[in-house]
Amino acid sequence: MKICFLAIGNELLKGRIVNTNLTKAGEILRTNGYDLTRGLTIQDDKESILAALEKELAENDVIIMSGGLGPTTDDITKKTIAAYFGVGMKEDTTTVELLTQFFAQRNIPLSDRNRAQAMVPENCEVMLNLRGTAPGMYFSVGEKKLFSLPGVPFEMLYLLENKILPILKQSFPLKHYQNHIFRLWGIPESSLADRIAEIEDRFPPELDLSYLPRIDGIWLECTIRGNAEDKAALSEKLAYWTGEIRAILADKCYTEGRQSLEQEVLTIFTERKLTLAIAESMTGGQIAGKLVTVSGASSYLKGGVTAYFTEIKEKVLNVPAEIIEKEGVVSAEVAMKMAEGVRTLLGADIGISTTGYADKSGEDILPHVWTGYADAHRSNSRRFDFFNTREINIERGVSAALVFLLNQLAVK
Ligand code: ATP
Ligand code: MG
Repeated sequence: MKICFLAIGNELLKGRIVNTNLTKAGEILRTNGYDLTRGLTIQDDKESILAALEKELAENDVIIMSGGLGPTTDDITKKTIAAYFGVGMKEDTTTVELLTQFFAQRNIPLSDRNRAQAMVPENCEVMLNLRGTAPGMYFSVGEKKLFSLPGVPFEMLYLLENKILPILKQSFPLKHYQNHIFRLWGIPESSLADRIAEIEDRFPPELDLSYLPRIDGIWLECTIRGNAEDKAALSEKLAYWTGEIRAILADKCYTEGRQSLEQEVLTIFTERKLTLAIAESMTGGQIAGKLVTVSGASSYLKGGVTAYFTEIKEKVLNVPAEIIEKEGVVSAEVAMKMAEGVRTLLGADIGISTTGYADKSGEDILPHVWTGYADAHRSNSRRFDFFNTREINIERGVSAALVFLLNQLAVK
């Protein structure tokens, strides 16, 4: 089954708007067992729309259009679709009612221009838009289906989820889709591919792997799909193969599933009734900034010290001057002393730290961070190297420190 997403809009092509509708549509279809097989962006002029309709209807089973349905004169999608089918326009009475209500609630008279939103091609079935004023439209073209949705993202999303999916599920066999994510750090994509090549060679056809490189490492996604009636067997199969993958990636996998690092840290600290203190140099407070984005952080995060000057590392965090002198301020030892120091200073169960270079420094120091960990019994630290811009290296530094923290919490 081939599904094409056809985004209409000059703004998209000029780089003024990011085509998030395409991404969102791809995600929603995928998580419902359908695959978007083509994504296209075109200008909103008559010739481009007509040409795209002609070609894409020939080559796909389903076309989902978005954009160009508004009341302004630049919105020509409706008229062009009517011209394509060689039909006239009709007024949809339910949409008129909806529009009347919509404007009455806002104390605005229903102008002719707004009422014109209820005009649709004669051969369409209206999909009521309860999130805005432009109705969605459904055209059945022989065995094929054409949908036209407004461009406003939350309206597009509403219609896709609530109107289009049910139609697809009725016309095309219901699919089962399930996936499992391994979150990996410290292994390049190519080595990862080498490691799992042997398992992947034995994969049944309904299973596939995808690699998603992210700030917090690589997300390896293992997906199984098939018919809905085989759901139980498919689940079992997925569990078997993820078991095989888990066994060979254990040393590189810091967690599984989709939950964010900050959520994961919150879960572990609250479960174990632990508290945390943070000493940040290279990350400048962004670790604390990230951890407080999830509600509940106040139950475990005591606080942090942004110790950017060497002097502050010494005076506030009690890092011995001799160690800084001997090892350098960006070193394994200083990272550990910072973690120990902040842990004592704030009276927390666990202290973590960062000290590093976000940029290249001089000729031979490449961006890297030493991240430290200290609890009542032991301290540890690890180096992570970065290869990007200053901003991204700092973001990676935040993730590195949290991945290292999770890793240390797993040590028995
Ligand atoms: P309106 O009633 O606002 O005119 P419309 O259906 O005519 O809606 P457009 O005019 O194409 O749609 O776009 C309206 C707004 O929706 C744009 O300003 C833009 O912010 C957003 N938008 C349109 N297309 C997309 C897209 N593909 N991805 C993300 N946002 C989009
Ligand atoms: Mg518009």
